[in-house]
Amino acid sequence: MSVTANSVWKNCLAFIQDNIQPQAFKTWFEPIKPVKLSDNALSIQVPSKFFYEWLEEHYVKLLKVALTKELGENAKLVYIIKMENTYGNREPFTEQIPSSNRGSVNPQEMDVPIKSKNPELKNPFVIPGIRNIKIESQLNPNYNFDNFLEGDSNRLARSAGMAVANKPGGTSFNPLLIFGGVGLGKTHLAHAIGVEIKDKYPERTVLYISAEKFTQQYIESVKKNTRNDFIHFYQLIDVLIIDDVQFLSGKSGTQDVFFHIFNHLHQNGKQVILTSDKAPVDMQDIEQRLLSRFKWGLSAELQNPDYETRISILRNKLYRDGVEMPDDIVEYVAKHIKTNIRELEGAIISLIAQSSFNKKEVTLELAQQVVEKFVKNTKREVSIDYIQKVVSDYFEMDVATLQSKTRKRHIVQARQLAMFFAKKFTKASLASIGSQIGKRDHATVLHACKTVDNLAETDKQFRKYIEDLTKKLS
Ligand code: ADP
Ligand code: MG
Repeated sequence: MSVTANSVWKNCLAFIQDNIQPQAFKTWFEPIKPVKLSDNALSIQVPSKFFYEWLEEHYVKLLKVALTKELGENAKLVYIIKMENTYGNREPFTEQIPSSNRGSVNPQEMDVPIKSKNPELKNPFVIPGIRNIKIESQLNPNYNFDNFLEGDSNRLARSAGMAVANKPGGTSFNPLLIFGGVGLGKTHLAHAIGVEIKDKYPERTVLYISAEKFTQQYIESVKKNTRNDFIHFYQLIDVLIIDDVQFLSGKSGTQDVFFHIFNHLHQNGKQVILTSDKAPVDMQDIEQRLLSRFKWGLSAELQNPDYETRISILRNKLYRDGVEMPDDIVEYVAKHIKTNIRELEGAIISLIAQSSFNKKEVTLELAQQVVEKFVKNTKREVSIDYIQKVVSDYFEMDVATLQSKTRKRHIVQARQLAMFFAKKFTKASLASIGSQIGKRDHATVLHACKTVDNLAETDKQFRKYIEDLTKKLS
C-alpha cells in the first residue's frame, strides 16, 4: 500500500486519539485536514492561526512522536493555515508555517486559591510620578476560569482567553476581543483572564475597567487638565482589560485617547483584552482606525449556550450554593431560558429563594411561574430559525429553498427579507445571520438589508410583504 498524506495522518490520528481526552481530540484534531506528503514532510491544514498556535503550544510533542512513528526521525510537519475569512478579505487565503517543535510546554495549572488582591491598592486612577504606584486591578476573583463552564458556545473564546492568560502579550491574540449578546459571559471571561494572569504572573500590572468608567475618567482628566497623566497612567499597564467597548461609539475624544494608549501598549508587547456586545463588523460610530486595530488580534464570539451547557451551568450553580433540586425542575428551566445565562442564573436563584423563604417545595408548577416571569420580563427575542420559518411559510416555500443558492428572484427576495428581519429582531451579528441563513457572509447580509430598505421605499407590493411579516413576527 502506498503511503499518502491521508494514510500517514490517519495513523497519526489513531495514535493521538489514544493519548488525549476525547473532547480535546474532537476540538483540536478532527478539524485538521492532511494535504500533502513530500519526502518526510507532512502538510496539514488547520482552520486558523489560533489553531496552529494552540497545537504548537499543547500538542507539539505528541504530534512529533506520532509523526516520527510514521515517517522516521526526520519527519517534518508543515502547517497550512486557512486564514479566517472574517475581515473583509473575501477570499480565504493560506499561509504555511513549519512546526517549530518548541518542546517546552509549561504544563500544570495549579489550583491556587486567589489571594486577596493587595487591600491597600485603592484608586485605579493614580497619577504617576510617584515611584511604586499601586494600582488596584479591579478584578473580581469570583469570576474565574474554574467556574466559567465550557461548552460548544464558548469553547473558542474560552481557549483563546486561556492562551492569553498563559502568555499575556505573547500570542497573536492581541487584542483579544470577546463579543456576544447580553448575559453570555463576556464580563466573567474578561475577569477570568485577568485573575489567571495575576495568579501566573503576580508582578504584572493588570487593570480591568469598563469602557464607561474609562470614558468618565477621561472626561474628568480633560476638565482638570490632566489628559497627559491619564494617558501616561494607562500606558503603564501590562494587561489592560476594557469591558463593553461598544460604549465608546460616538465618543470620538475617548476613542482618540484610547487609540494612543492602545498603540503604545501593543507596540510594547502589552496585552489588551476587549469585550463588546457586537462583532467589529457590526460596531457603529467607532473610528475606522480603531476598528482596524480591534481586528489585529482575535475576535471570539460567545454564542448562546446549548442545552447541555445550560444544564451544567445550573447544576454547577446549585452545587456551589449547596442546594439540591430535582432533575425535572433543572431541565425545565434549561429548556425555557435559552439566550441569556444571567437570566438562567436569575431564575434558579429565584427558585432557591422562593423555596427557602416560603418553605415551599420546588414543584414544577413553581418553576413554571418563575420561568414565565423571567421570560416575560425580558422581551422574548425571536430566533433566526423562527424568522426563516415564518418567511418561508409566508411565501409558501420550505426553509431549504429559502436557503438554497438559487438566484430565482422570488426566492432571493424571501432570503433577503429573512436576513433583514434577523438583523432587525435579533442581536445576532451580520456574520452569524449570514452563516445561519444559507451560509452567506456578512457582506451579503448587509447588502440584503440595504436592498430591502430600498425596495420598501420604491415597491408597494414589497412594502406589503414587510408589513405582513412584521406583524407575524412581533
Ligand atoms: P455579559 O458581560 O456578557 O453580559 P456576564 O459575564 O455578566 O455577561 O455573565 C452573566 C452571568 O452568567 C454571570 O453571573 C456569569 O457568571 C454567568 N456566566 C456566563 N457564562 C458562564 C459560564 N460559561 N459558566 C458559568 N457561568 C457563566
Ligand atoms: Mg458585561
